[in-house]
Amino acid sequence: MSELSFADLGLDPAVLEAVVAVGYEKPSPIQAQSIPLLLNGDNLLGTAQTGTGKTAAFALPLLSRIDHKAKEAQILVLTPTRELAIQVAEAFSTYASKIRGFQVLPIYGGQDFYPQLKALKRGAQVIVGTPGRTLDHLRRGTLKLDTLKSLVLDEADEMLRMGFIDDVEAILAATPANCQRALFSATMPGPIRKVAQTYLSNAVEVKIENQTKTVARTTQYVLPIYAERKLDALTRILEVEPFDATIIFVRTKAETTLLAEKLSARGHSVAPLNGDLNQRQREQTVEDLKRGKKDIVVATDVAARGLDVPRITHVINYDVPYDTEAYIHRIGRTGRAGREGKAILLVTPRERSWLRTLERATNSPMESYQLPSPVDLQKMREEQFEAQLMTFAEDGKQPKAVELLNGIAERNNVDIAVLAGALACWMETAQPGALPLEQPAALPIPSPERRGRDNNDGRRPNRPGGHKPGFKKGPGKGGPRPGGRGKPPAGGKRPPRQTDAKR
Ligand code: AMP
Repeated sequence: MSELSFADLGLDPAVLEAVVAVGYEKPSPIQAQSIPLLLNGDNLLGTAQTGTGKTAAFALPLLSRIDHKAKEAQILVLTPTRELAIQVAEAFSTYASKIRGFQVLPIYGGQDFYPQLKALKRGAQVIVGTPGRTLDHLRRGTLKLDTLKSLVLDEADEMLRMGFIDDVEAILAATPANCQRALFSATMPGPIRKVAQTYLSNAVEVKIENQTKTVARTTQYVLPIYAERKLDALTRILEVEPFDATIIFVRTKAETTLLAEKLSARGHSVAPLNGDLNQRQREQTVEDLKRGKKDIVVATDVAARGLDVPRITHVINYDVPYDTEAYIHRIGRTGRAGREGKAILLVTPRERSWLRTLERATNSPMESYQLPSPVDLQKMREEQFEAQLMTFAEDGKQPKAVELLNGIAERNNVDIAVLAGALACWMETAQPGALPLEQPAALPIPSPERRGRDNNDGRRPNRPGGHKPGFKKGPGKGGPRPGGRGKPPAGGKRPPRQTDAKR
């Protein structure tokens, strides 16, 4: 992460206010490099993949340069897929939330022309479109680009791979000559470079230098997961992993608090660690982790810088990092003082390309993390319930309770076992999930073969050449260890569990 803050970058005050409101702590490396250049009006050629913060890297400076009062199209972003178009349009809405009367419009294939025509007529300062549909509108005269100030090609290599390059060039040719242009791409194949040479004169190149480092003491695992299932997956990981202390990395300050609250509600002893806490509070949290008063910390990269707590056995990358340097720093929080560490990375289908990047950066392959099957999980929960029950049965403190129950059983002529069952159900009402009665549902795991997102305009992309994301099965190491499970919080009580239906 850079040392710069967003306030140092010279963004429009309304845009800066929105960035503060979303809770971003620091500009990511690609943002720190790109924002000043784009604010300056330069053309830019950026090598950056999903997850580096590239959307904000272009959206924030370009929004800072638009005329708030003029309603015509000032920024056009081309994206390879409709899903990305929607995502980028949403990001623009967020970053422009403090700009009065701001309008952004996504236009993509597969959607009726009519509502798009109406919206285009009403006017939007930012258009985010897939190449095919954007070109259609241009040719029909329903989209005019003569007022355009900036154009962005997002994920240019994907557009090339999906066969949109001619459409992209036709659109580029229709933009005003003085229009600022930026191109972002995870890779820079020849045809993309050619487009850049033709249409992005004097472009400044920006790329993140990827560090390489061996991380001997930390075994790395990857778990492909749908974004909306990340919390479920995390809950299960924490349930089965025999951790001493765990650090969970997320992107924003807000997320550290939110996730810590959710885990706390599930009975974990957890604290957030972020840049909003003052020095003293941060030191206290780290001290609590060191002394075992807390077992989990949910942190941002900035707040966890230099953290040295030998009892951290696990690093969970709940959100992917911005760059390899951040990743290497994150996983270096475990495997300290000569101990072994375990790092688990959650990747959504869109973020898959990170896998290869991180494997290269760390010079070691990642093993596939195996979540426990519903049957195994259920068995584990039953054993755990039994073990807890037996600790109460053996502690010699229950004779009075037994006497009370015997009386109830006699007077009501019911078996004592029925009363034990009734008590357990009562406990479940008080502490939902405490009683392992129902087998948990399996979490849907995206297959390695599936493309990360829907393509648009009905064109099916080819599998990208080269690397197949290496979701190879590890030698069973990713799964729960026999009898292994997360450490019960202090007091010997397991966290109250919730069934999937309740989550
Ligand atoms: P992108 O690479 O544009 O797809 O962004 C990936 C994710 O990072 C998005 O969810 C953004 O909201 C988030 N993000 C972007 N910039 C920052 C930042 N400076 N701090 C925290 N999160 C960010």
